[in-house]
Amino acid sequence: MPGRHSALTRREAIAGAGASLACSGARAATGSTLLVTHPAALAHDMGPSHVERPERLRAILHALDDARFADLLRAEAPLAPHEALLRAHSSEHLSRLAKSAPSDGYARIGPDVAMNGATHEAALRAAGGAIAAVDAVMRGDVKNAFVAMRPPGHHATRETPMGFCFLNNAAVAARHARTAHQASRVAIVDFDVHHGNGMQDIFWSDRNVLYASTHQMPLYPGTGAVNETGAHDTIVNAPLVKGDGGAQFREALASRILPRLDAFSPDMIILCAGFDAHLHDPLSGLRLVADDFREVTLRVMEIAARRCSGRIVSLLEGGYRPEDLARSVAAHVGALTEA
Ligand code: ZN
Repeated sequence: MPGRHSALTRREAIAGAGASLACSGARAATGSTLLVTHPAALAHDMGPSHVERPERLRAILHALDDARFADLLRAEAPLAPHEALLRAHSSEHLSRLAKSAPSDGYARIGPDVAMNGATHEAALRAAGGAIAAVDAVMRGDVKNAFVAMRPPGHHATRETPMGFCFLNNAAVAARHARTAHQASRVAIVDFDVHHGNGMQDIFWSDRNVLYASTHQMPLYPGTGAVNETGAHDTIVNAPLVKGDGGAQFREALASRILPRLDAFSPDMIILCAGFDAHLHDPLSGLRLVADDFREVTLRVMEIAARRCSGRIVSLLEGGYRPEDLARSVAAHVGALTEA
């Protein structure tokens, strides 16, 4: 398969996430977009009928193998270091995950969360991929990055796996940017159709991290009301209602999310990129289409260009109809490559 061969060649050139892309012999990085993934993310499986299934990521990777994405730089997601995970999770939570992994079959560890033999590695690499993306973007090796990994992360609280999520990848990434790269302020924009209760839990009292979310409400997990603003007014919730489409989504962005993002003047922007607000998604009642995901990406990129040299790390969250998910991700990543 020619596309896969050339991707592997680039991946080898990049030589892992710890390496400096600028020194790897890869092409000049300014303006480039990094795609981070790993085969472990395809082996994580929560059961034969589960909606958060490997086919989601398979469809995405197939779409990103298209010739229009030939210029993406590619890297494999490393395992997240334990100390980086401890910035967002308790040691009890981390050891419970390590101990719960079954050698065979599935272990149900909470509502909507089950592990198979590959889950623990996949979760560590999903968080590690987010860290590697932060490193590449903060070093200036690439302009921005998309991390195509699963399991997703934005429902995982400091203590609790839930909602298909085990480790809060975006929270780990934001804290890593603050600690390892001295970012003064990090903003997280979450356009998954579900509210990121884990993000809100972890950053409720953190004045240096802005968390801004559009989501359907009422819907799982039940949080995300406008009056939930955090201890330092750094939580911005812009709920939408069932039946809302692109016009309402764009209005919520323009009037509530983007002005706060701009005013916060972050050093880096992390996207919780969930695509389950799509018209055909089985888990929600919003009516977005692929072009709406392109639009939110471009609007956030404008602010990133003005405030933080375009630095964006985008992390895959939800999206449960693989063909629409793949088209939506292609629209999103296509926009990122236009930086
Ligand atoms: Zn979701």
